[in-house]
Amino acid sequence: MNSIKVASYIESIEPYQGGLPIKEVARKLNIAEKNIIKLASNENPLGISPLAKKAITEALSEVQRYPDGNGFYLKDALSQKFNLNPDQLILGNGSNDILELVARTFLSVDDEAIYSEHAFAVYPLVVKSVGAIGREIPARNYQHDLDSFRGAITKKTKVIFIANPNNPTGTLIPKDQIQDFLNNVPSNIIVVLDEAYDEYLDEENKSIAFGWLTTYKNLIISRSFSKAYGLAGLRVGFGAGCNTLIELMNRIRQPFNVNFIAQQAAIASLHDEDFIRLSRKINNDGMNQIVLAFDSLGIKYIPSHGNFVSFKLEDETDAMLYYQHLLKNGIILRPIANYKLPEFLRVSVGLKEENDQFIKFLSNCKL
Ligand SMILES: *Cc1c(COP(=O)(O)O)cnc(C)c1O
Repeated sequence: MNSIKVASYIESIEPYQGGLPIKEVARKLNIAEKNIIKLASNENPLGISPLAKKAITEALSEVQRYPDGNGFYLKDALSQKFNLNPDQLILGNGSNDILELVARTFLSVDDEAIYSEHAFAVYPLVVKSVGAIGREIPARNYQHDLDSFRGAITKKTKVIFIANPNNPTGTLIPKDQIQDFLNNVPSNIIVVLDEAYDEYLDEENKSIAFGWLTTYKNLIISRSFSKAYGLAGLRVGFGAGCNTLIELMNRIRQPFNVNFIAQQAAIASLHDEDFIRLSRKINNDGMNQIVLAFDSLGIKYIPSHGNFVSFKLEDETDAMLYYQHLLKNGIILRPIANYKLPEFLRVSVGLKEENDQFIKFLSNCKL
């Protein structure tokens, strides 16, 4: 036995469970990599923008140098695109890094943070990692219940996390409800609006939260290049907020948290609006294809605004049966029992042919 003791709040943390990597499935199930379809991590099935690909190749000639720790050019591109000041922006090694920086900056032992049941798994992780207490608010019909969020606020509450759209439920809170919530939250509590899937929303639902930053000095918006932009493997995201909050977070940020290739790829991606438009179209078509199949198979699902959808089987045993059956046939989905949705599986929307395969093996599971 090892005699090393860690704080009980570290011991209480359950490690994050990601989607199985293609190589691992290939190795363990002895399936050729090319026959494996990963629909487990909400990645962009189209890949990345050709402009990003070019930028990545060009960036290779400079990797012997440290990256710009302040990410000047990426912040410059972001500030132009979203009409913000660069000092309202902080870059992250994925948006997970932003979520963690929020926790490390604004929470300490015995402080409280609020998030929803079935919300993104990283919130409890980062909250517990600093010894703070997570208040998980029961969902209402799989949605964030913002009224109950308000009721759960105490003197100890320092941070509130809202995922919009949420993963793994895909639910979306209308803009006016979020604004109403912001109007009623004490201004000394940080509200984090996690908008990792915003690029997939249609015009009417798209977030306008960047425009709220001048009004709400306690608002932090987090965005990711991992989803629609397709840069999951490079790890890049950003946070936007009032410059005083950003400055505090910057004090504890690792000096070179976003690597040079990621910065260059992100800048190039921002210039390729056609790629995002196409990604959204492929996603809308694929989502329709998948939910039509659910309907015709009599499978219930939670209508989703993201690039994924969670669907319901009989019970946990049934869900694992489907999961294993699909996995054996080279299709990787995501069980979400760790989100308190044990009878559900989450599928990411793929290319048409990938969705076809998923639907085929879904349909013949019980045969
Ligand atoms: C995928 C996801 C993220 C993004 O994580 P990255 O660290 O940017 O890859 C953030 N929030 C939610 C809700 C997500 O589903």
